[in-house]
Amino acid sequence: MHTGPVREIRASGTARSRFAPDSAGPLESVRILTEEFLGLSALCAKLFRRMRVIVIGAGLAGLTCAKVLAERGSEVSLFEASDGVGGRVRTDERDGFLLDRGFQVYFTAYPAARRHLNHAKLDLRVFDPGAVVHRSGERSVLSDPRRDPASLVSSLLSDAATTGDKVRTLRLVASARQDDTESAGEKVKSRAADVNSLEYLREFGFSEKILNRFFRPFYGGIFLDRDLGTSSRVLRFTFKMLASGDTVVPARGIGEIPKQLASHLPEGVIHLNSPVDELLRNGERVMGVGTAEAEHEADAVVVATEALAAGRLAGVTVPGGSVGQTCLYYASGGLGAGKKILLNGDDGGFLNNVVEISNISESYAPPGESLVSAVAIGTPDEPDEGLFRRGISDITRWYPNADLRPLAIYRIPFAQFSQPPGVHDGLPDNHTNTPGLVLAGEYTEDSSINGSMLSGEKAAVEVLA
Ligand SMILES: Cc1cc2nc3c(=O)[nH]c(=O)nc-3n(C[C@H](O)[C@H](O)[C@H](O)COP(=O)(O)OP(=O)(O)OC[C@H]3O[C@@H](n4cnc5c(N)ncnc54)[C@H](O)[C@@H]3O)c2cc1C
Repeated sequence: MHTGPVREIRASGTARSRFAPDSAGPLESVRILTEEFLGLSALCAKLFRRMRVIVIGAGLAGLTCAKVLAERGSEVSLFEASDGVGGRVRTDERDGFLLDRGFQVYFTAYPAARRHLNHAKLDLRVFDPGAVVHRSGERSVLSDPRRDPASLVSSLLSDAATTGDKVRTLRLVASARQDDTESAGEKVKSRAADVNSLEYLREFGFSEKILNRFFRPFYGGIFLDRDLGTSSRVLRFTFKMLASGDTVVPARGIGEIPKQLASHLPEGVIHLNSPVDELLRNGERVMGVGTAEAEHEADAVVVATEALAAGRLAGVTVPGGSVGQTCLYYASGGLGAGKKILLNGDDGGFLNNVVEISNISESYAPPGESLVSAVAIGTPDEPDEGLFRRGISDITRWYPNADLRPLAIYRIPFAQFSQPPGVHDGLPDNHTNTPGLVLAGEYTEDSSINGSMLSGEKAAVEVLA
C-alpha cells in the first residue's frame, strides 16, 4: 500500500501521458492503461528500446544513479528542487573565498565513491592525519605514526593517550581493516550485534582519558554526536577509511564532487528548480512524476531525495531523527595551524573542531588571506553575532594572536540522519514492492558521501534488473 501523494493517470483531463495519448478515446485509453499492459510496456522498454527513467533529487545518490543509468543506455531525466546539483554537498563562492555548505571531508578509500569519481581531476588536497587536541590551554598532537612519520615524536609524547591506548588504536585499525563491507550500513548476515561507539570503545579497553580528549571531539565531529551514541558500525567503517587512505577535499571545494558526477550526464538531463510534487500512478504502478508545470512519464522513477521527502513522496518508512552542525567561517591573516584538524578537548566548549582550510587548499581563500572553518555541533538558537563571538573566544584561547573576521554562518539542522545502533538493519532497500518505483539516498545505506553514492549505484542496477 502506498500512502504518499499520488495522482492517478486518467485518460482525460490535463495529464500528459505517453500511455494515454490525447488522440485515444476514453475507453481505448482505459484499456491501454491496464496494469498488465504497463508491466509489459516496461518489460518491452528494457528489451527493445531505451528505458526512460526519472530520478528525483540531484544529490550524490541521484547523480550517481543517473550517471550509471546513462552509461548503460537509459534515457534519464533528473528533477532537482533547488538551483544547483549536489544536495547537501555544495560550495558557495563569496568575495574570493570558497565556502563549503558545512565542513565536510572525503576519504580516498571510500570504495563505492572511487568507482565513480576521477580523483586526479578533483585535484584532491590532503589533510595531515590525526589531530591537534586543545585542552586546558595545552596542545597535544595525535597521529598515526605509520602514516605521518613527521609527528612521531610529538605523538609518542602526547599526553592525550596512554601507551595502552596507542597499542589499542593500532589493534582497532588492524581489526577494522578486516571488514569487507562497502558501507557502514551494508546488510551482512555474519555481522555481530551493533552497540553504540562509546560502549564499543570502552569494551575495546580505551581509557576514559583518550575517550574524552580524542574520540569525543574527533568522532563527535564526524558523527555530529559528541556523546558517541552512533552505531559502532559507522565507527569501524570510518576507522578503516581513515587508516586506508587520505582525508581530503577537492582543491576548489567539496562541491566539485557532485559537479564531476553531473559532467557525465548529457546536456538537458538535469532540470534545476523543478521540485517534484507527486508520483503519478496507475493502480499500484508508478508511471511518472508531476511537477508544478507538467506531468512526465517514465518506465521507472527513482526517488533520490533526503529521507523525509522520500517518505512523503513514496509513502515509505524512512529513518527519523537527524544530527546537525553550525559551520562558522572567518577570514584571517593566518593562524599558523598547519594541515591538521584542531579539536576542542575541553568539556562544554562551543566549537568542536576547527581547521584552517586554506592551508589544505590555497584556493579556499584569496591571495594574502586565510580561511578558518569552525564547527559547533547542533544548531543553537542564537543570533549570528553571538555565535561568531563564541567561536572567536574559543579559537583565541588556542591562538591568542589570531585575528578573525566573521564571514558566514551555515546552520544545517539536517546534516545526516541519526545512526544509533541497529538503525542500519531497518533501513529501506532500493527495491520496493511498487512496480516502477526504486529508492536511492543515504537513508538506504549510511549517511556519508560513500553511502549515498553506493545507494545511487545500487538503485540504477535495480532499475535495470
Ligand atoms: C554539514 C554536513 C557534513 C557532512 N560531513 C560529511 C563528511 O565529512 N563525510 C561524508 O562522507 N559525508 C558527510 N556528510 C553526509 C553526506 O553529505 C550525505 O550523506 C550525502 O550528501 C547525502 O546525499 P543524498 O543524495 O542521499 O541526499 P541529499 O544530498 O540530501 O540530496 C537530495 C536532493 O533531493 C532534492 N529534493 C528533495 N525533495 C525534492 C523534490 N520533491 N523534488 C526534486 N528534488 C528534491 C534536494 O534538493 C537535494 O538536492 C555531511 C553532510 C552535511 C550536510
